[in-house]
Amino acid sequence: MRKRVYIAYTGGTIGMKHTRAGYRPEAGYLQKQMAAMPELRNPSMPAFTINEYSPLLDSSNMTPREWLKIARDIAKNYRRYDGFVVLHGTDTMAYTASALPFMLTGLGKPVIITGSQIPLCEVRNDARENLITSLMIAAGYDIPEVCLYFGGKLLRGCRAVKVSADGFQAFASPNLPPLGTVGIDIEINWPLVRKKAGRLRLDEFAAPVVVSALRLFPGISPNLVRNVLRPPLQGLVLETYGVGNGPDRDREFIAALSEATDRGVVIVDCTQCLEGTVDLGEYETGSALARAGVISGYDMTAEAALTKLYSLFGRGYSSDRVKREMTKDLRGELTVGNR
Ligand code: ASP
Repeated sequence: MRKRVYIAYTGGTIGMKHTRAGYRPEAGYLQKQMAAMPELRNPSMPAFTINEYSPLLDSSNMTPREWLKIARDIAKNYRRYDGFVVLHGTDTMAYTASALPFMLTGLGKPVIITGSQIPLCEVRNDARENLITSLMIAAGYDIPEVCLYFGGKLLRGCRAVKVSADGFQAFASPNLPPLGTVGIDIEINWPLVRKKAGRLRLDEFAAPVVVSALRLFPGISPNLVRNVLRPPLQGLVLETYGVGNGPDRDREFIAALSEATDRGVVIVDCTQCLEGTVDLGEYETGSALARAGVISGYDMTAEAALTKLYSLFGRGYSSDRVKREMTKDLRGELTVGNR
């Protein structure tokens, strides 16, 4: 039987049209292009349904409300389809790809997020390949994960980061090899693929969430840090230097962190480096943060840490519970065995 794929079309360059103000998404435009592609009607391709969202968004306009809309859409259509493709802008694709795994607990089917750097309507584009291969993977491969497919690489969603503003190889997962690579063949690295576990449960954001991210820079003012950490903030991804270090000679900076963690704010230390892991014991400048109550984000991306905080607080967990869960590997977002 022909496999069936559900396409959630949220917006992004892939379906955009050129206007005087620059590219923007337009209702119905992508479907018109897709209807003119004979390869999508080839018997080797799955049957598919497209749900065009309204409004279609440039992903720079996405918010957690949209993550929830996509997760609900997948959950609602879960039983009727073999796999899911989410067409999405590249700008915040890594955030959505990181958020969805935490919301789709017990996922047993592939969810492939993709998009393109050049719209499908242009003669020379990367949209065609990304779309066709994503549909094939969603239909033909038993990968029970949220993945990001782009430029020949299938990445675990919650490990992905955007690494190029204009290249076709726009995404990477520096701390995890790709789950698959696409050349003449589609090759899946099966030992890396997670196993199915239980039944799908949608973890909605039931409770209001206030979280943030802050990138350290030389000379950052403790007042700025204090302001960011003010109530009602619940969690912060602190993007630090190297293996998780910060300016420990600045007493006010350390005091601002301590005061916040004493109030129950969960501060997660993620490195600004693209690759490698936080190790708060390696330098004095890291252990000072640990003493101030900051917890290690290990090798999580800042995107994964932020969306994980979102999801855990969204479930209504206490700050102690969020702290515990943040250091556990829930969806393959961090490498167990890190210090
Ligand atoms: N600004 C676009 C977006 O993220 C960029 C893209 O899709 O490549 O929606």
